[in-house]
Amino acid sequence: MSGPPPTTPARRSGGAAASSGGGASYRTPIGTHDLAPPESGRWVALLGAFIGAAERAGFGYLQTPIFEDIDVFARIGEGTDVVGKEMYEFADRSDRRLALRPEGTASVCRAFAQHRPTTPWKVWYQGPFFRYEAPQAGRYRQFHQIGAETLGTDDADADVEIIALAAGFFDAIGLQRVPLLINSMGDGDTRAAYADALSAYLRQHADDIDPQDRDKIDRHPLRVLDSKRRATAVVAADAPRITDFLSGESGAHFERVREGLTALGIDYEVEPKLVRGLDYYTRTTFEFRAASLDAAQDTICGGGRYNGLVEALGGPPTPGIGFALGIERLLLACDAEGVFDVPAQRAEVWVIDTAGGAEARDLTHQLRSIGVRADRAFDDRSIRAQMRAADRSGAEIALIVGTDEIDAGTVTVRPLRRSDGGSVDVPQQTVPRSELLGTLRAVFDVLNAPAPASADSSNPA
Ligand code: ATP
Ligand code: MG
Repeated sequence: MSGPPPTTPARRSGGAAASSGGGASYRTPIGTHDLAPPESGRWVALLGAFIGAAERAGFGYLQTPIFEDIDVFARIGEGTDVVGKEMYEFADRSDRRLALRPEGTASVCRAFAQHRPTTPWKVWYQGPFFRYEAPQAGRYRQFHQIGAETLGTDDADADVEIIALAAGFFDAIGLQRVPLLINSMGDGDTRAAYADALSAYLRQHADDIDPQDRDKIDRHPLRVLDSKRRATAVVAADAPRITDFLSGESGAHFERVREGLTALGIDYEVEPKLVRGLDYYTRTTFEFRAASLDAAQDTICGGGRYNGLVEALGGPPTPGIGFALGIERLLLACDAEGVFDVPAQRAEVWVIDTAGGAEARDLTHQLRSIGVRADRAFDDRSIRAQMRAADRSGAEIALIVGTDEIDAGTVTVRPLRRSDGGSVDVPQQTVPRSELLGTLRAVFDVLNAPAPASADSSNPA
């Protein structure tokens, strides 16, 4: 039902399944999930928190297509798992070669190259992404990311701003145990010199490296460092460090990033093995890892600087820096830390209509139009059933309309609970229609007032 597990039952999904009752029954494809209330309320709140942080920092929303020309993503690196093994590729009916987007940065750079906006171009995005991976907790075939990118400046302060946006967002939702790791990949020259030194070292230790990683030693030595396989990780631990290969300029850039993080009070650790899985990174790379999650899926946010991607996509040479964070993983980390609960979604007013439902129809409509969260039951249920529904809804006030009220042109206003959930000692009152809004306002004031010191002071004056 909800987004990722734990609430999702063991997945036996996979398209159509035989059903008992004649018609076929269907389930979500492997590695995908429905997102339904109340869990979906959490996503909405999460996006709201991010939108606030992004807009305060001057980032505008960018929406790109969910599928693109396959070559847009090929630029990420043909040899990467994301492109080479995990991408959903297809031909449309006119035989165009397309792919479902596996990540966001390539699309942002494609959009930049296409529209040539003024710089710095600061945008954020969110939505579904697709990778054909082995599904497990924190790893799905359709997952969802929030990301942000700043294009058109090489200024190290832009790196700090991007990292601070992510850090501030985690802070805003109450997530605490998400250490930040940073590194610098240097420039093209650094990368080349380092790749030589690294593959020489890896060749010396080839026998100790996991067989599945060995073929990368010559072709993509940096990606050996990114491997999560244990034997490989042991060898990687003593590998030469890229930070020892930085040019003067890259070194100064990295220094300025570190200085900025310190100035902003953002804790970090330098991790020289943090090279990330994609080909396009230069200079700064960073990750936030959730201490509360399993190491195989603990990266909740990854990013870095890419100074060649826009050009590779047909635009002018344009530096960029950005990050992407996985919403499902972020929420798993929130669960593990016991923060950012599903928000209560409750009505404020529940309309009980025992005279056929027309009053409930009209009153809920009127109340909603003036900003009140009002709801009702359907199907002309008994008053007891409607009272139960009112109770379950969490509403603070029930409005009761029966034939007596209709004849007299009145409404009965019954306080149900205080806004903080506490019990109330406020009597119900039947008031003329014309006084309904005034009465509602007065009763809400009482229900919202600080909790009374003693029971009898809770009565309105
Ligand atoms: P990992 O090393 O865990 O596979 P990655 O390096 O492939 O991650 P990125 O391409 O940097 O991940 O994507 C950014 C973020 O998106 C990740 O840190 C993670 O939170 C999330 N993410 C990536 N792939 C998946 C997936 N298949 N399912 C759920 N979340 C994902
Ligand atoms: Mg991956």
